[in-house]
Amino acid sequence: LTSFTDETLIALDTLAERATGLVNPSIRIGVTGLSRAGKTVFISAFVHNLIHGGRLPMFEAQKSGRIARAYLEEQPDDAVPRFQYEDHIDALVSGRTWPDSTRAVSELRLTVDYESASAWGRMFSRGRLSVDIVDYPGEWLLDLPLLGKNFSTFSAESFQLAALPVRADLAEAWVALAGSVDADAAADEMMARRLAETFTAYLRACRQDSRALSTLPPGRFLMPGDLEGSPALTFAPLPNLREGRARPGSLRAMLERRYEAYKTHVIKPFFREHVTRLDRQIVLIDVMQALNAGPAALSDLERALTEILGCFRPGTGNLFTSLFARHIDRILIAATKADHIHHTSHDRLQAIVRRLSDRAAARAGVSGASVDVLALAAVRATREGTVTQRKEELPVIIGTPLAGETIGKDTFDGETETAVFPGDLPKNLDALFDPNAAAGPSEAIRFVRFRPPKLERSADGVSLSLPHIRLDRALQFLIGDRLE
Ligand code: GDP
Repeated sequence: LTSFTDETLIALDTLAERATGLVNPSIRIGVTGLSRAGKTVFISAFVHNLIHGGRLPMFEAQKSGRIARAYLEEQPDDAVPRFQYEDHIDALVSGRTWPDSTRAVSELRLTVDYESASAWGRMFSRGRLSVDIVDYPGEWLLDLPLLGKNFSTFSAESFQLAALPVRADLAEAWVALAGSVDADAAADEMMARRLAETFTAYLRACRQDSRALSTLPPGRFLMPGDLEGSPALTFAPLPNLREGRARPGSLRAMLERRYEAYKTHVIKPFFREHVTRLDRQIVLIDVMQALNAGPAALSDLERALTEILGCFRPGTGNLFTSLFARHIDRILIAATKADHIHHTSHDRLQAIVRRLSDRAAARAGVSGASVDVLALAAVRATREGTVTQRKEELPVIIGTPLAGETIGKDTFDGETETAVFPGDLPKNLDALFDPNAAAGPSEAIRFVRFRPPKLERSADGVSLSLPHIRLDRALQFLIGDRLE
């Protein structure tokens, strides 16, 4: 009897895909990032700007007028939920509200008819490229490193992280409970549940705005998708495990088995079905939120990015990592929401991302894929202006703060436009990163959330397009070469 291994299955999938690719060239782009990083907004703006001929001067195919048409088509995978593009655009455009965020994996196919840039290419008819966009939670990508870790390692690392100053107070209840149990005592379902619950509560607390931490595996504890309340998530790390095997029938044996089941039944299928098939990847990060929360949050973001980039390093003895890495040729790390700061600070924001990703890439040892960084706003919610104060001209950003946002003593109603002095991003990058810093915001920067903007006239002057910052550069990096 033959049994298909993961490897054969993936190889067969890839072959089938290549065969279809010959008929209709396609490229599969993964869009990921932690919850609220801006995935939904990014994909919506990406597609809207292509379909409606938005202003994209740095996107060569569009600028030179070679794009005949861009339109949505039925996606190739029937079993994957569709990215609800129309609903999201309706929220952004008609309601001027932000769309519902990503909670699970979804997919959308955008097809672009274009004219080849070369005379040679044009001789052979019009080009057509299908762009399959796959949206998935970054929390799930951060699960990949768990495949290489056994329960003891996972446990030890979890407790090390929990001891950091920025986490210790949040982890207190869970650490106390975990410290009180006897790992060798008989397995107890209620204890397993209490441990899982307090552990999850700690992970959640780490995501609140004032902490804004990023490295919080297992990913499904925060973003369960369709596993909400499932027994697959009823485990937690245990402290001070001694060497050797768990005693059969013990609490440790039970949690260990569930941890292994999580790897086999949750992490692996997700990677096999979605991630190993990607050609390119954009990782969105909310640097602004991390900056706001302080040096420990930035360090933690760097740690998460190192883990993520580690997933793209081939030949580390992990089947999934290798397959994934072999396939991916470009990775873009993008800081979103650059419209919260004045354009004079955009390069500084990009420098922060550059530093994050350079250090992460060096530590993770990525080499195969080319990694680029960008500071962008998929949807630009602000304009710029200047305010004169004591004869000094100060750069400001102007937008409509969301209802309930506050600046000083003012609380906004969601209708009133206001000018905000966003502050400067710090020049000294070293001072920005400190894993051992306690929780506490950096000074100087204060971010206000704005409503989505009113639409602008697009390049053709007829349709309306969503304004953005540097979205065209992201498009150029992700698909530009495939439209030549
Ligand atoms: P997801 O969880 O990664 O799908 O995140 P979303 O795309 O839903 O974005 C989360 C929130 O971030 C949105 O509701 C907006 O408030 C904000 N946001 C995302 N992208 C932008 C952007 O380009 N500009 C601004 N001003 N806010 C953004």
